[in-house]
Amino acid sequence: MNVVTIHTDAIIQVKVPLPFPLRWVNAYLIRGSRGYTVIDPGLHTPEAEALWEQVLQEQGIAFEHVEQIVLTHHHPDHYGMAGWFQERTGAPVLLSETGYAQVQLLWGAEQPMSQLLLELFTRHGFPAAELDEMTKHMVSFVELVSPQPQVTLLREGPVRLGDRVYEAIETPGHAAGHLVFYDAEAQVMFCGDHVLPQISPNVSFLPQVEENPLGAYLHSLQEIGRLEVKMAYPGHREPWQGFSARASELVRHHHERLALMEGQLSAPQSAYEVCRATFGDRLSMHQMRFALSETIAHLILLEAEGRIQQVDPEADRVYYVAAASQ
Ligand SMILES: [Zn+2]
Ligand SMILES: [Zn+2]
Repeated sequence: MNVVTIHTDAIIQVKVPLPFPLRWVNAYLIRGSRGYTVIDPGLHTPEAEALWEQVLQEQGIAFEHVEQIVLTHHHPDHYGMAGWFQERTGAPVLLSETGYAQVQLLWGAEQPMSQLLLELFTRHGFPAAELDEMTKHMVSFVELVSPQPQVTLLREGPVRLGDRVYEAIETPGHAAGHLVFYDAEAQVMFCGDHVLPQISPNVSFLPQVEENPLGAYLHSLQEIGRLEVKMAYPGHREPWQGFSARASELVRHHHERLALMEGQLSAPQSAYEVCRATFGDRLSMHQMRFALSETIAHLILLEAEGRIQQVDPEADRVYYVAAASQ
């Protein structure tokens, strides 16, 4: 596997290792006359540190040549090394306001998101006996995003990356506040995890963030799928052509999954039961967290569309049933 791929005079792809089945996250170095922009530097692990030191040395890039670190979204596999880079370069770290709000919920003082998620999962049928393990899993991410950077807020609109001006476009769904960077003239997009080749990006419900994340995702996929994109540079897997077709495929995939889950609810079930029926019962804690959040996101959309309903909206535990079977 090539760790470094030089795509154009200005765009260098760097595969930063991940200790997850995804295997790596793509960071991009964009060369410009004022220095380098680093997009999504990766998860903070000793392996990633060693890789970056080696890659920068081989490419002849000193830390002081880095002018900015730009994040498509706040997920740890993209944001985690931003603070490490900032310590060495003094460069600003740019992230959307919604992304930064989640950084504070997830890894700020008291990390309120852990508790909110555990309460959410419990309400949706996650077994009490496994809560400790889930808590440990969530806490384990803090060191993978530390030290945390000083963040400069990045808004929708023009943003200079290297010597070209891109349009930052908010594309919620996979992550609230997710931004893609689009160069309309060159028809190039850095699409983060919004649209990925081969992989269906996770769409999670998170308390206090977005009421209907899958609804937001399908809407933004349809919007973004209309843009002319010759080359898309994703957060995972390889840069590819055929961005619009892939966006449509993802919309279809979610409609199929919605129909499948609706079909499973001819008798009342919790989100946890629907999750195991959909994703299987051999998930690691890491996979379970995302599978359950994704199931909840689907059920919320089905409920918003009136296709399923809560059996007893007043009860502590949420059970859903298909509207058609009432
Ligand atoms: Zn992500
Ligand atoms: Zn990612």
